[in-house]
Parts: sequence; structure tokens; C-alpha cells
Amino acid sequence: MNDTLAGRRHALLARMSAAGGHGAGMSPRRLLAVSKTRDADEIAALAAAGQRAFGENYVQEALAKQRQLTDLALEWHLIGHLQSNKAAQAAVAFDWVQSLDRIKLVPLLARHRPAARPPLNVLIQVNIDDEASKAGCRPDEIAALADAITGEPRLRLRGLMAIPAPEPDMTRRRHAFAAMKASFDALAARHPGIDTLSMGMSEDFELAIAEGANLVRIGTALFGPRLRMG
Ligand SMILES: *Cc1c(COP(=O)(O)O)cnc(C)c1O
Repeated sequence: MNDTLAGRRHALLARMSAAGGHGAGMSPRRLLAVSKTRDADEIAALAAAGQRAFGENYVQEALAKQRQLTDLALEWHLIGHLQSNKAAQAAVAFDWVQSLDRIKLVPLLARHRPAARPPLNVLIQVNIDDEASKAGCRPDEIAALADAITGEPRLRLRGLMAIPAPEPDMTRRRHAFAAMKASFDALAARHPGIDTLSMGMSEDFELAIAEGANLVRIGTALFGPRLRMG
């Protein structure tokens, strides 16, 4: 199993660096291992292979795994929808919150980020094309959210995240990724410190990289099919 995980990770990293793309100014390309539904042993095996950044969808699930992995220096990303009543815990449990999508979360995360820790890294989640999904802000809300985040010393704005609609037509997916890159560039003009565009999953990460992603979130292609829904 360890060999399989290490081998899959190695192959993914090779595909990531071979993928074309014009995100060159934003390298290096980073792999986020999405470990929802996976247990602490699998995470430890992947960490032994060199993987440091792990993504979880639920605060409680992440906390349970972290308690079993305290001896490993891992970087934890929240990628699932964040409820306001979980913001205080999230500000402590994670190094990055990728799913900040409304103003209300900004002071909550800032207030609960421990003073002894570095500022919490945040990405603004954008609903680029998925009418059916309530997660993610509208593109025209990005600027106000970014200003609110950069007004908080306990938060550090790093960029944008998107989960485009599971659209079988890859041309449409490409358009969604390109629209995100345009939003990223517009934001970077006002906030030159941002450096992360998180988009692309197991099925479409090469396309996302080609359109400018420099952080891809991979679950299935790394761990194998999920046994239960995350
Ligand atoms: C589950 C999940 C992923 C990983 O999806 P795969 O298709 O298994 O690679 C990436 N991002 C988010 C937000 C997810 O919930």
C-alpha cells in the first residue's frame, strides 16, 4: 500500500510538471492530497513519501486525524464548506482555509486565530459557473472580500479557489478555469502579494494547470476510489 501511494504521488507530480501552462510566474506547482474519508495510516504513509499538504472537507474529521498524527509536521487545508459555527475551530485546526466565501467568516476566523501561530492563509472560494451550488462568492464579490481579509492582520490572503461544475464538456471546464485565471489576475493587480490559484482535481488537473492553476487538489487519483462519500 505504501509503495502504491508513493508511486501514485510520484506519477502525479511528473504529470503536473509536464502539463503545459501560463502560470509560470506563479510556480512552483503544488499538490494538495485530499484525504477526506482516508485514515491516519494512509496519511502517514503519504507523508513518509514526502507529501506535506493535506486537504480535508470537515473540521471534525480533520481534528480526529490530527490527534493521531501529532508527531508529523503537516500542512492542513480546509477545502469544504465552512459553517459559521465551525469558524473558531477551523482557525485553530488549519494552516489554510480555502473555502472563505462570505464576509461574515472574516472577523470570525481572524478573532480565533491563535496569536502564537502565523497568520491563517486564506483563499477566496469563487462560484465561477455552478448555478446549482451555494458555495463560493460571485466573481463581483471578490474585491470586497479581499479588502476585508487584508484588513485583518491575523489573516493572510493568498489567492483564489474554485470547484467548477462537474461539466462533462471539457471546453466548458476550460472556460471556467480561464475565467478564474482572469479573476486572479485582476485581484493580483490590487493585491500583488497573492500567489495561489487552487483549481483542478483528479479528472481535470492538467487542464487547470494549463489555464494557470498552481495548486491542484487530488483525492481519487492519489488514494484510489472513495469507499464512502466525503
Ligand atoms: C473531494 C474534493 C477534491 C478531490 O476530488 P478528486 O476528484 O477525488 O480528486 C478536491 N477539491 C474538493 C473541494 C473536494 O471536495
